[in-house]
Amino acid sequence: MNWYIRIKKKINKKNLRTRIAKKNSNSRFIQIMNKKYINFSSNDYLGLSHEKKIIKAWKKGAEIYGIGSGGSNYINGYSIEHKLFEEELAKWLNYKKTILFTSGYAANQAVITSLIQKKDIIIADRLSHASIIDAAINSKGKLYRFKHNEIKNLKKLLSSNYKNKMLIITEGVFSMDGDTPKLKIYHKLTKEKNALLMVDDAHGIGINGLQGRGTCWKKNIKPEILIITFGKAFGISGAAVLCDQDIGEYLEQFSKNFIYSTTIPTAQIYALRMSLKCIKKGGDLRKKLKKNIKKFNQLNKYLPYIPKKSKNHIQPIILKDNNKVINLTNKLRKYGYWVHGINTPTVPHNTARIRITINTEHKKQDIKNISEIIYEFQNI
Ligand SMILES: *Cc1c(COP(=O)(O)O)cnc(C)c1O
Repeated sequence: MNWYIRIKKKINKKNLRTRIAKKNSNSRFIQIMNKKYINFSSNDYLGLSHEKKIIKAWKKGAEIYGIGSGGSNYINGYSIEHKLFEEELAKWLNYKKTILFTSGYAANQAVITSLIQKKDIIIADRLSHASIIDAAINSKGKLYRFKHNEIKNLKKLLSSNYKNKMLIITEGVFSMDGDTPKLKIYHKLTKEKNALLMVDDAHGIGINGLQGRGTCWKKNIKPEILIITFGKAFGISGAAVLCDQDIGEYLEQFSKNFIYSTTIPTAQIYALRMSLKCIKKGGDLRKKLKKNIKKFNQLNKYLPYIPKKSKNHIQPIILKDNNKVINLTNKLRKYGYWVHGINTPTVPHNTARIRITINTEHKKQDIKNISEIIYEFQNI
């Protein structure tokens, strides 16, 4: 078949994803064309993407260091700022090593594809982020997925594969469901079988735990490998892997993403260091976020659509049916609330949903209004 016949056949299908170009946004508002909406879809949970101190730091960083890092980790791209940021993160989260990557996607690829060799086993929660699942599929090992947050299923897989090296992967706060696994039990089970536990805390870092140290800190566990990202609560972009000395040195030597990719711009690292400072001191922001989540939970207590009862900033309104999701999304947008529907196949069959994210900058009235519209929709 000709290349373009195949390509066209694929892109002419129905239900393709579309992007909507925003004019601008912050964590409370988003402007699309000429309409301003209250934004219930942002990952900028603490509003730091517009924090003046961080913007100032980025500008100052650019003045000192220029705008590009000028190279990869081994050739010209690693600076004293990168080194300081690594040390600050390691100290903050109590790990020996920090390895920086330009994105969470790259970090997950790097760890999984470089650690996993032939005959190794990856055991991941079924609902893990695509960057985890794709890396596992692309690796030389074998992937097993266990039922979402189900210990029994995980135990079984651990027992039947214990002769091989096993990497167990889950998330701190799941990106589509807002729930958290029983991490303490996971770690106990994985240690018993000499497996490594890897937790991707993209949505928990900056939010959960003392001074925002994340979900693992809150649950009092220290997984062998912790992934954090800077595109969510940190308000910028980039990611880091936290681990012990040996795993860190291994990644530095054998991760292609680490070796052959341009490092995060030094000025951005300068801004990220300020963002880290804001997060450490962000007790008030987290308190406000908790208050907003509580308000949302209270107002939606009787809504049958939120079966998971997420206590986190991610609140799925599970309508099951793709058409219903489209209808409620349109209705909310008509009234000035910006949300995104997540349909199958992004989420499993029969779990189509609207993914609402609560953030620090929402006003009480925003939460009340959106809840009312959802409630009315339910009664149609
Ligand atoms: C967002 C996200 C990523 C990807 O991080 P990027 O920095 O956006 O590439 C990885 N894992 C999880 C769980 C995420 O939510």
